[in-house]
Amino acid sequence: MTTNNPISLQPNARPVLYDNHGRPITYLRLAVTDRCNLRCFYCMPEEGIQYLHKSKLLTYEEMLRIVGVLAELGVHKVRITGGEPFVRHNLIDFMYQLAAIDGIDELNITTNGVLTGQYLRQMKEIGIKSVNLSLDTLDAKRFFEITRRNEFEKVYQTLFDLLDAGFDVKINAVVMDGKNTDDILPLVALTQHYPVSVRFIEEMPFNGEGAHYPILRWNLHKILDTIKVAYPALTKIKDAPYSTSYNYQIPDFKGNIGVIAAFSRTFCGTCNRIRMTAQGELKTCLYDEGVLSIRDLIRSGISDGELKTVFVKTFQHRAKDGFEAEKRRTSLVTESMTTIGG
Ligand code: SAM
Ligand code: SF4
Repeated sequence: MTTNNPISLQPNARPVLYDNHGRPITYLRLAVTDRCNLRCFYCMPEEGIQYLHKSKLLTYEEMLRIVGVLAELGVHKVRITGGEPFVRHNLIDFMYQLAAIDGIDELNITTNGVLTGQYLRQMKEIGIKSVNLSLDTLDAKRFFEITRRNEFEKVYQTLFDLLDAGFDVKINAVVMDGKNTDDILPLVALTQHYPVSVRFIEEMPFNGEGAHYPILRWNLHKILDTIKVAYPALTKIKDAPYSTSYNYQIPDFKGNIGVIAAFSRTFCGTCNRIRMTAQGELKTCLYDEGVLSIRDLIRSGISDGELKTVFVKTFQHRAKDGFEAEKRRTSLVTESMTTIGG
């Protein structure tokens, strides 16, 4: 690999596209909607959300085309996200088509679990293996305070249905100062009897309003220290390649624990992921403002070949890390995660 020749093609191997820092681009996070049926405190304001007009959203046909082109460049893993993916009509039909694209060998989804339970059979048939379920608390009252919706029972049931159905389940729990830090240990305790990964995420200011705190107290270190006090045997385990989480296990527990330093941004050096927002903005870093409207290019009649060239060129200007991406912005980080695709 060199930055002069960013595409590496070996005989009988799939293409790999490298960015200007030598990182392979193999993973797309695709937001299929900016809408949601919850209103999580850390993600969206309670009221006043301006949803995108339908005409501004990528159509499923446009998404399939974009993924097809990216797959030819070496993207082989796609995670569907949003907003809440299941609020978009006909998501399941779309996922069948996505999974059939040549070169896409892993299709996963991140969901809040409110509508998910009814689709487990089709999700299995599509070949989805890994489901990230957002669940920040095991307490129904606190769930309501955080999400501003009364859906705890449904989401909690979905967790066990997903496990029963044999999915690889990761719980995403954003750690919020003064809101759910008492949930850290009960969530860790789930890993004793269930083969689930519980991942604690540092809260980022992507909430539609801007930073909630002057400094982030509940960072990676404080989260880990809290767990270690209760479970001194907490042991570091190997992180999967390109993992954004630092992973741990308590001996003899069935599941494991991860911490995602999303605010501290310690994982950027191996970042292999790009994002497509629901309105077709390409993001080459979570912290950038969106570097290019792929939707506008497609609607102006660009060919697949030209689109490929645009992607290759754009990936040669990728920020080194989330701090550099943030510095390049013209506005502060305040947008809601629903418009980004978390
Ligand atoms: N609605 C789906 C869900 O909640 O799983 C998918 C979209 S959501 C934006 C994707 C992930 O982003 C969730 O796991 C959520 O916890 C995380 N997230 C949203 N806002 C965040 C923030 N401000 N800081 C850290 N993580 C955040
Ligand atoms: Fe909706 Fe997911 Fe954001 Fe919560 S985190 S408001 S479920 S998009």
